[in-house]
Amino acid sequence: MPIQPIRIFGDPVLRASARPVTTFDKELRTLVKDLTDTMLDAPGAGLAAPQLGVSLRVFAYNVDGVVGHLINPDLSLTDEEQDGPEGCLSLPGLRFDTKRAYGVVAKGFNMHGDPVTIEGTELLARCIQHETDHLDGIIFIDRLDREQRKAALKAIRDAEWGQGLVPTVRISPHSTFGSAR
Ligand SMILES: [Zn+2]
Repeated sequence: MPIQPIRIFGDPVLRASARPVTTFDKELRTLVKDLTDTMLDAPGAGLAAPQLGVSLRVFAYNVDGVVGHLINPDLSLTDEEQDGPEGCLSLPGLRFDTKRAYGVVAKGFNMHGDPVTIEGTELLARCIQHETDHLDGIIFIDRLDREQRKAALKAIRDAEWGQGLVPTVRISPHSTFGSAR
């Protein structure tokens, strides 16, 4: 069954730092297929392995009709920023304006172990930053300003899937939007 259940905010796997991929084997290719199928079924603009409960540095993306994946991403960000609505399949129904770098150059590998570079701006850049954050246990509400974050935490408590959750946020220590490790 390639379509997998998506882990919801509050699941500890979403707060863990994912491990780099070291073996490019059949299991990894199955993970990429599951990520891609689950993302397209949702549908969503991106899905990271921890959202399927797998703590590995892998994500899939689906932006402007281009579907792809990236393994062990390493990001360079532009100084120029963008601000706009962002959401997450692990926080169903929530959307908040989130500041991101306008552009990104992402280096990493495909599922066969070949080096790849993805360059993007606007939505693709936003998606790559969002998904790479997931690999560091960072969720987009961590990046909201104080007022928006308060609204997001209230929305989580009010959400059907958020009942009984005590939401916490992490303040990123990095001025580079979390891509620095
Ligand atoms: Zn997400």
